[in-house]
Amino acid sequence: MRLAETLTEHGLTLKAQRDAMREGKILGWECTACRHRAITPTARCAKCGSDKVTTATFANDGKVVTFTIQTVASEQFLNEVPFAWVVVELDGGPRVSGWVPFVSRPGDLPVGQRVRFTPSYKPGMMFEKT
Ligand SMILES: [Zn+2]
Repeated sequence: MRLAETLTEHGLTLKAQRDAMREGKILGWECTACRHRAITPTARCAKCGSDKVTTATFANDGKVVTFTIQTVASEQFLNEVPFAWVVVELDGGPRVSGWVPFVSRPGDLPVGQRVRFTPSYKPGMMFEKT
């Protein structure tokens, strides 16, 4: 089975996921057998192998698991440097990667810091401290 067919079959396309994020909603994939969740397209559950994968709405809030501070950025992020590239554990899962603007020192963003997904015209998923 091709991935594109799978996405159609499960009703969630990358475009629909991107459009939802612009509206402030995080959509992803969830296994109906074991409830494992993924932000990236998946035809089969990475945890139990089931092909019963459906669309799910994830929480917008979560906590920082790890991060790295970026002081040099591509043109798209010139107005946000320094920023932190973060891994966030959304409440109820899964873990996603994104970024938090204006973080210059590790003390500015302790591991465990609560953050909230904020729609942005910038690439990737932007989070802000709550
Ligand atoms: Zn599963």
